[in-house]
Amino acid sequence: MHVVHVAAEALPFVKVGGLADVLGSLPRALAAEGVRSTVLLPRYAEIAHPLEPQGELAYRCCGEARRARVWGAEAGGVAYRFLEVDPDWSAPYEPPEDARYLAFAQAAAAWLAGERYDLLHAHDWHAAYTVRLARRPTVFTIHNLAFQGELEPDRFERLTGTAPDAELLHEGRVNLMKGALLAADRVTTVSPRYAREIQTPEYGMGLDGVLRSVADKLSGILNGLDTEYWNPATDGFLPQKYDADHLERKRRNRMTLLAALRLDPGLPAVGAVTRLTWQKGFDLVLETLPQVLDLGVNFVLLGTGEAELERGFAEAARRYPRRVAFHAAFDEARAHRIYGGADFFLMPSRYEPCGLAQMIAMRYGTPPIARATGGLADTVEDGVTGVLFEEASPEGVLAGVERMLDLDAEPLARAGMTRDFSWGPRARAYRKLYEEILT
Ligand code: ADP
Repeated sequence: MHVVHVAAEALPFVKVGGLADVLGSLPRALAAEGVRSTVLLPRYAEIAHPLEPQGELAYRCCGEARRARVWGAEAGGVAYRFLEVDPDWSAPYEPPEDARYLAFAQAAAAWLAGERYDLLHAHDWHAAYTVRLARRPTVFTIHNLAFQGELEPDRFERLTGTAPDAELLHEGRVNLMKGALLAADRVTTVSPRYAREIQTPEYGMGLDGVLRSVADKLSGILNGLDTEYWNPATDGFLPQKYDADHLERKRRNRMTLLAALRLDPGLPAVGAVTRLTWQKGFDLVLETLPQVLDLGVNFVLLGTGEAELERGFAEAARRYPRRVAFHAAFDEARAHRIYGGADFFLMPSRYEPCGLAQMIAMRYGTPPIARATGGLADTVEDGVTGVLFEEASPEGVLAGVERMLDLDAEPLARAGMTRDFSWGPRARAYRKLYEEILT
């Protein structure tokens, strides 16, 4: 079986967010299951990897004939192809996004027309229009429902040379994601619980009605972790490497972490590594931080994002210098030391399609205190590998921390470390889905 993935980003070539992790690891995991993948991406100027020229592609865009240079590379045994639709396009999501990804989608369809493959797997709105043009068996995966590829109908007509049909229109505008949801053979998102949640007005981002109408072809498959990279037994960022039988070494990591941050060495540490956006719910934490600290914990936060939240946590760190540490940075080494040194890991997300951080935390024996939503609810077992709380509110966060402190943490830490968060079973789920479509 040969699957072509179409997406906006993929490691090791270009990364903005979690989509790149998935496109960097799922194709390799599929290969281990006997599914060959080719990954098709836009050629961004910032890609530093050496790419091989592969000739030119003729395609139609904006009602005219165009040519795109095609580039190729191999990584981890997977073939990657890059379509250069705009030599000035330096990085993903650089405006004008709609014009650029529509050009890419049309070029991708032209490229696919010349290929032998069994199935198209399109990811997020950037690849959505390709689903409609390719007219082949297709899986469409929602990684981020917040971005749907919306534009005015007349602009769409200018950028494609065709008027939008009814399936592409949503509330008077073109909605590329909606078009793919209706056209694809199967639709997936990145956890089973999130697949149900997005059919409700609360989580549907305006597309819940459309998602309900395709419920019979919609399912959720969890993302996997790169368990070789995220492994406390081999992690070179940690002062002490450890496994489930040597949790005393993890306690030494905690002492090193607390000493470096000048926090209270006599109290456990609640850690967090996150983007600071509305989705992640850290405004709720800020509101109840004094009460959380009163429970007798340190709080260690690594994260960047909204200026107001960064200011708020910087202020809290000044007010409680012995109890709160905050770094507004993207810092891989520090992230590892928090996963490997904190006692608990806080994730109060308002919504969470899958979430990797909670899986990393469990793998590092750091039980999550997480909101019962999306992939968090599907991966954290309440009272077994962590604590789930229901309410996205300051009271919910406080109750979650309180409940965790009432539990004996060590069995939870151990249980989390034995869970399988690898890509293997999840790649098998995708293979099964592909097989269902093709038979
Ligand atoms: P999302 O993709 O919505 O940001 P995930 O939990 O799926 O959330 O993935 C977040 C990933 O990014 C995790 O690997 C986490 O460790 C990492 N990360 C987030 N913020 C930072 C930061 N400030 N420094 C280092 N790593 C970070």
